[in-house]
Amino acid sequence: MEAEAESGKFVLEPEVYVVGSQSVATSAVRDFLRVRGMADWADMIWSEGQASADVLCEIAGRCCYMSFGRNGRTHRAYLSHIKESGHGSVLEHAVISFIIAGVSRSLTHELVRHRAGWSYSQLSQRFVDESSARFVAPPAYIDQPNLLSRWKLAVTSALRLYRLLRDDHSSIQNEPQRVTSTSKRKIKNGASRSVLPNATETIIFCTVNGRALRHFLERRANPDADDEIRRLAMAMYYQAINVMPEILGDYVVRTCERGLKYLHTDHEKV
Ligand SMILES: Cc1cc2nc3c(=O)[nH]c(=O)nc-3n(C[C@H](O)[C@H](O)[C@H](O)COP(=O)(O)OP(=O)(O)OC[C@H]3O[C@@H](n4cnc5c(N)ncnc54)[C@H](O)[C@@H]3O)c2cc1C
Repeated sequence: MEAEAESGKFVLEPEVYVVGSQSVATSAVRDFLRVRGMADWADMIWSEGQASADVLCEIAGRCCYMSFGRNGRTHRAYLSHIKESGHGSVLEHAVISFIIAGVSRSLTHELVRHRAGWSYSQLSQRFVDESSARFVAPPAYIDQPNLLSRWKLAVTSALRLYRLLRDDHSSIQNEPQRVTSTSKRKIKNGASRSVLPNATETIIFCTVNGRALRHFLERRANPDADDEIRRLAMAMYYQAINVMPEILGDYVVRTCERGLKYLHTDHEKV
């Protein structure tokens, strides 16, 4: 069967890569504190080996009151207090970049609804020929062989139609001579992509700050969210916790009655 012959085209899991995170310019922080007689605080925080993203948020918060005293709260207590008191703007100073693949266009349509604090760069379906596209199986079908095989037939048929439309040059031949080959390719890809399904795999690079990431995780690593984006949000959480261990440290992984993992916090939307 055609769908079976193309089995390499079906994606079952997202790929999440943390490709960027911050470092602290320690000597500049030390210089800033030394001229104000507060260098002890820098010695203390560096000796504890805290994560850069977390430390930058603490430095930003302490700049508000110049409260770099040795006898202040511990690093963990300080960031917990920020969340408890809802001073979430401080968490915007932490930033993380992901490359995400193995996700569907329907997922990224939901992802890009998160605007504040997010930046995106996504694979172009006009520039890139999708004749070799892969398709992301809906998590609800993965353990349902009958549904999965019908779904595979549907997406395989759509891909076949895409290739037929894209390879039919006749309408493009009449374009004026001044239209470049790149423009013609974009016209062909742009028109034929209209028959590709929501399940078509895409790649998206995104950069997000700590506050916006928290809001996303609360809405999407959630049993009410679509299964595919919930699964992605959990995968992003498991990677981001290494970059922002205190900023995300209040989240607890729970299992809902459907057996799905989700996140819980007592400090929503800080
Ligand atoms: C389970 C679920 C079901 C959904 N169903 C639908 C649906 O059927 N149809 C649909 O269209 N969408 C739907 N959505 C998307 C939803 O409406 C939001 O667009 C999406 O979750 C992004 O949320 P947000 O706007 O809070 O996030 P962000 O854009 O990340 O914003 C974060 C916060 O910043 C503030 N903010 C951001 N922009 C503005 C602004 N312009 N003005 C004022 N404050 C701002 C708000 O406080 C906002 O909560 C659904 C989302 C979920 C989680």
